[in-house]
Amino acid sequence: MKKKLKLSKRGKNFIVSSILVLFFGVLFFQFGKIDPGESIIKKDNYYIKIDYPEIENKKSNRKVANSIKNYIDEKKEEFIELVKDLDTDDRIYDFLVTNSVSEYEGIVLVHLEVYAYTGGAHYIRDDQSYYFDKNTGKELSLNDFLESSESLDRLAERAYHHILEYGIEREMNFVEETVREGTVGSLENYLHFTFKNDGIEFLFPPYQVSCWADGEIKITIPYKELEGIIKKEYLKESEEPPINPVEKNTRKLEDMKDKKLIAFTFDDGPLDKTTNRLLDNLDTYNARVTFFILGSRVNRYSSTLIRAYEQGNQIGSHTYSHLNLYKLNDGDILKEIVNTNNEVKNIIGEAPVLLRPPYGNTNSKIKALGDMYTILWDIDPEDWKYKDKDKIAENIVKNAHDGAIVLLHDIYETSIDGALLAMEKLQEEGYAFVTIEEMFQLKNIEPDKTKSYFKF
Ligand code: ZN
Repeated sequence: MKKKLKLSKRGKNFIVSSILVLFFGVLFFQFGKIDPGESIIKKDNYYIKIDYPEIENKKSNRKVANSIKNYIDEKKEEFIELVKDLDTDDRIYDFLVTNSVSEYEGIVLVHLEVYAYTGGAHYIRDDQSYYFDKNTGKELSLNDFLESSESLDRLAERAYHHILEYGIEREMNFVEETVREGTVGSLENYLHFTFKNDGIEFLFPPYQVSCWADGEIKITIPYKELEGIIKKEYLKESEEPPINPVEKNTRKLEDMKDKKLIAFTFDDGPLDKTTNRLLDNLDTYNARVTFFILGSRVNRYSSTLIRAYEQGNQIGSHTYSHLNLYKLNDGDILKEIVNTNNEVKNIIGEAPVLLRPPYGNTNSKIKALGDMYTILWDIDPEDWKYKDKDKIAENIVKNAHDGAIVLLHDIYETSIDGALLAMEKLQEEGYAFVTIEEMFQLKNIEPDKTKSYFKF
């Protein structure tokens, strides 16, 4: 229609163009002048303050600048229509718009916070975000940043995890079902995001994942976790400076390549007396082991934990308080995991990446929540039951094989003695004693968070 007009009636076309030029001129006068970039209206019963976003005055930006302005003005008109004839005694009605504009990899991100108070208990908030290509003005949505059709579901999983974590850190009681609903893998749930130095920040306006009083919820999902979810070109190396107050000894693994490997693991500690006795003797067998510690014991036994770590042993998590994860709701599962990781990180500067769930109780839901590597075992000498060093050593030695994971507890004297006795015998049989991390390296295995490792 427009084209026809253009071709056949030049005069009319000229008028149309002039109107358009005038219209955009006015529009860009507003966006171009931008200083102060605000519009304030004061009336007896209402107040309006709009901070228009500053957008580069370019031809290619016209369309998006136009939709931003239209959105704000539409909301403003709605507001005026609602309140203009209303009386007010104590509180004046108001309409506020604030904005933030940022740029990332040639993409401009505009976020509007639109508040309207039209009576009632609180503001109505309508956030709106715009993403457009800096050079072409082409509007984008999250879809343009996603790697594949499965990305949204995977993003939903990560967002759910981080929101629960956010709640734990702030001692807020989120309702898991509401968080689930608000994070379901659909584009409408992920309208507001910003690329930050350490990850992508997602904003969930009030009500989306929690009650009004909790306000907006902002979480940052590290770039590392978004691999395979967000397209590679938009992922940055996370800029997390390594804080390592404790230096860990690493050893050369070359000599062990041709040996049979076995991973001794110790749960439920640390405990000063017994754990230290084990540490005192590891060098005799050129052994390094893995501790699955309880978060609740970390502070009390921190010097032993530091010593274990410094020596080159690996510190994994056995959760905070040794509860059966099958019986907990998602928030409590995550609390058991996150709190332990934080305690350990506070002491040695590094959070565990390995998880041994108490009683070996895990499933795909727990794995997705915890986002750690699940390490179980295939040799269980039942040390807690026998409390007999010879019996324990015998049980280990007779079941030993290359790639085995042995389950022990460093809170019993007999377990330490049994383990050392077994090492003595196995050393003669050509075994080397390695941590789980060393096992992955020597066996050339890429760790997988969806798996449970019983042996290698
Ligand atoms: Zn245990």
